[in-house]
Amino acid sequence: MTTLSLAPADDSAGRAQARSAELETEIARCPERFRVLTGDRPTGPLHLGHLFGTLANRVRLQQAGIEVLVLVADYQVITDRDDLGDLPSTVTELLLDQLAAGLDPERTTFFRHSAVPALNQLLLPFLSLVSVAELQRNPTVKAELDATGQRPMSGLMLTYPVHQAADILSVGGNLVPVGRDQLPHLELTRTIARRFDQRYGPTFAEPDALLSEAPLLLGTDGTKMSKSRGNAIALRDDEDRTAALLRRATTDAERTISYEPARRPAVSNLVLLGALCRGEDPQAFAAGIGDRGAAALKAAVTEAVNEHLRPLRRRRAELAADPGIVPEVLARGNAHADELADATLARVRTAMQMD
Ligand code: ATP
Ligand code: MG
Repeated sequence: MTTLSLAPADDSAGRAQARSAELETEIARCPERFRVLTGDRPTGPLHLGHLFGTLANRVRLQQAGIEVLVLVADYQVITDRDDLGDLPSTVTELLLDQLAAGLDPERTTFFRHSAVPALNQLLLPFLSLVSVAELQRNPTVKAELDATGQRPMSGLMLTYPVHQAADILSVGGNLVPVGRDQLPHLELTRTIARRFDQRYGPTFAEPDALLSEAPLLLGTDGTKMSKSRGNAIALRDDEDRTAALLRRATTDAERTISYEPARRPAVSNLVLLGALCRGEDPQAFAAGIGDRGAAALKAAVTEAVNEHLRPLRRRRAELAADPGIVPEVLARGNAHADELADATLARVRTAMQMD
């Protein structure tokens, strides 16, 4: 099975991390230059990988005064499975996770693929700008297909990165806080924007990925933490379940705990998780455990995670008590994204002389 590992990062990941550092400087200097678009598939509750990979950045960017749009990628649920599950309830849980993490529904736009027809229509011209060979080379799509076992590649699975280009460009997003698995998709979005402009005249800006300090958190089995792989610690899990999940996390046989992502990915991932929760340096967190071994490491990480998530979990329970919040937030967000995407499609059709 292909797995996305914590390290070593390849060249493109290294470049994206360096670019993210430049972007941080630009964000601090000139936040009004940016509009954020990012999103998640409604395939299950958000987990610690989301929190440290993208969600904390979404909240921070919102607090910097940047317009933030968050997509609920409902059409993408069926890329790697046959049915949508209990979609209304999954969407509600997904939004509660984000509101509890600090996204303010007065300032952040939440919307769904299925509610924004113009976004989906952009897929047609965009598909004409990429070759099948390019799509088949996408390493994330390959890894995700592998994770499904023996499923054949569907047309939607192969082309969903093009759909993501439509997500981003339809609403004019130019900053995309994502995990490392999304880098090939962002590169494709940039290619599509560039090729569209070459063919039809200046229309799109090329968006940038913004990576966090934890662009690829691993799950309890040592592969990318994912909603769909049964290896995640969900933000909404209770403290006992969090402890039980972390107790069975993969480690290694060396007693002294250290932070060496390339040589010891599983142990280093736990160290990073504890350090992020405590706001500490990973080396210092590892030194704090020293030669007390994996059990002590897991106990310390459990305590750090539960402590860090306590306010979020409390807010989440309060928000969940009001069933009116999520439908209202989505209705407002869908309407706003719809307006933005309609305007983009109109520009696209003008550029293509189709109006
Ligand atoms: P699924 O298994 O259904 O694909 P997922 O856990 O991969 O779910 P997505 O909805 O596909 O989650 O991804 C949403 C966002 O979260 C993306 O920006 C992705 O890069 C980021 N993300 C997901 N998992 C991780 C992780 N383990 N570490 C860092 N970022 C992550
Ligand atoms: Mg995914």
